[in-house]
Amino acid sequence: MWILVLNCGSSSVKFALLRPSSGEQALSGLAERLGSPGARLVLKRGDERSETPHPNASYADTFALLLSELDRLGLREQVTVVGHRVVHGGEKFSAPALIGSSVLASIRACIPLAPLHNPANLAGIEAAQLAFPHVPQVAVFDTAFHQSMPEVAYRYAVPEAWYVQHAVRRYGFHGTSHAYVAQEAARILGRPLTELNLVTAHLGNGCSVAAIAGGRSIDTSMGLTPLEGLVMGTRSGDVDPGLHEYLSRQAGLSLEEITGALNRESGLAGLSGLGGDMRELEQAATAGHAGARLAVSVFVYRLAKTIAAMSVALLTLDALVFTGGIGENSASMRAAVLERLGLLGFRLDHSANEAAVRGRPGNIGATGSLPALVVNTDEERMIAREAEALLNGVRANGVGA
Ligand code: AMP
Repeated sequence: MWILVLNCGSSSVKFALLRPSSGEQALSGLAERLGSPGARLVLKRGDERSETPHPNASYADTFALLLSELDRLGLREQVTVVGHRVVHGGEKFSAPALIGSSVLASIRACIPLAPLHNPANLAGIEAAQLAFPHVPQVAVFDTAFHQSMPEVAYRYAVPEAWYVQHAVRRYGFHGTSHAYVAQEAARILGRPLTELNLVTAHLGNGCSVAAIAGGRSIDTSMGLTPLEGLVMGTRSGDVDPGLHEYLSRQAGLSLEEITGALNRESGLAGLSGLGGDMRELEQAATAGHAGARLAVSVFVYRLAKTIAAMSVALLTLDALVFTGGIGENSASMRAAVLERLGLLGFRLDHSANEAAVRGRPGNIGATGSLPALVVNTDEERMIAREAEALLNGVRANGVGA
């Protein structure tokens, strides 16, 4: 079964045509800077890569280009289901959903919770429905995996009316990645996922940690929005909730200015003054840049603290999992984090850690240590798996798609 996976942002479309069983990709690519003069389409097929400028291309143009490429390769008729990444499913979705009018209405109802992402996801779904009118479409939500969190983990200590009337609670994000790497960790450890207590750390441009008991998320570091929790590339993570009032009085900043700065000018970028790219900051830190050193140190300290805090949600801990661009590649970050986590039973195998880079996963825990696994995440494959499972279930139950 070939599944087309789509991840539509406000000005970008990422796509992959793949088989969930093997992970084999027939075609993948990215259209970015849509609607601007710099819009371009990148296509990858095996080792071939092409990049074409398409000034001012729209969503509709992107789908037309994608269709003509699929036609050219004879792949269009092979698409059996389209899986869409949808960022926010609120409390409505704890699993993927076959897209029909009521699911679309529910995704629309979650727009206030994700005002930038859900409208883009909806635009992508509508464009894909036009492009593939006879192919079932499935929504896979970033928040769904964390809907298993208990109330003690998801409620904020704020007036109950905020929760009841305005859905103010913790939702968590990166669910597809946390779920995928938990399955991979079970495979690597050779144990059933249902028996494992894991802490997974997804560390990319956005960063979050999850506590996973028996394959179910029971806590995570992101909350109502992806701003809560860890230090990230350009996001602050946790700050004092009194900050907004203080800054508006002291600096005359508006709510929008403060929120914009917390999302786009904070985190590693804010601390270093150099930007939010961890690889560049590690190089700058090695070269002696004080801001870069501070940024990396705060990142590591807050991450280690959060991993320890997440362990409290689990009765026992069987393994820690690092994933995402930083988790999969930064040996020095992993070493610094494990150094702080001796308390939990972690000790580093230095050579295994140095070897676990550039797509080579492994256990970096020393003999006698709790396992600390480096696992490559694959959100596209997980979305494809979920879409396939849902479709098979629908067909088995005899319900037309
Ligand atoms: P992602 O969002 O998962 O693509 O991750 C992006 C982050 O991974 C950026 O901060 C990159 O600098 C970081 N990253 C990628 N490769 C490396 C590397 N070799 N060492 C350190 N950080 C890396």
